[in-house]
Amino acid sequence: MVEKKLGAMMTCQNCGTLLTCNQIEYMGETKLQWQNPDKSAHYKFITDGKFECNIPDELEDTIQKSLDVAERTVTKEPSLTGLALTDEEMSILSRVIDEAASRVIYTYIKVRQKCHMHNITEPAVIGMIFNKTRETMT
Ligand SMILES: [Zn+2]
Repeated sequence: MVEKKLGAMMTCQNCGTLLTCNQIEYMGETKLQWQNPDKSAHYKFITDGKFECNIPDELEDTIQKSLDVAERTVTKEPSLTGLALTDEEMSILSRVIDEAASRVIYTYIKVRQKCHMHNITEPAVIGMIFNKTRETMT
């Protein structure tokens, strides 16, 4: 757990959102609060000292939009004609790409399984956790 002090940053253990510790005024007092990138409070306290993650809609929307765009753009079969590559270059590239894509796909499948194990089923959140996982692997 990262120390809660002004300007501190941490990744939420529950959902992977990057949080910043900021100062807020609450009932006339200054308090420290873990906030989302859009400055909204990340932890939403419910009963019995338990809390839920508050993931800003905007962040989910952005992830969903980029997934939608990616889906929509795959309508026409891409063409390989006219590329200035030799057969050998293409064969080497093909192998490299196959390996790299396999790693990404394998990571996605494992992340998705892990998320489902923890009852995380929202595609946008799974996408976010996948991206965070990839970031920590490079
Ligand atoms: Zn969280």
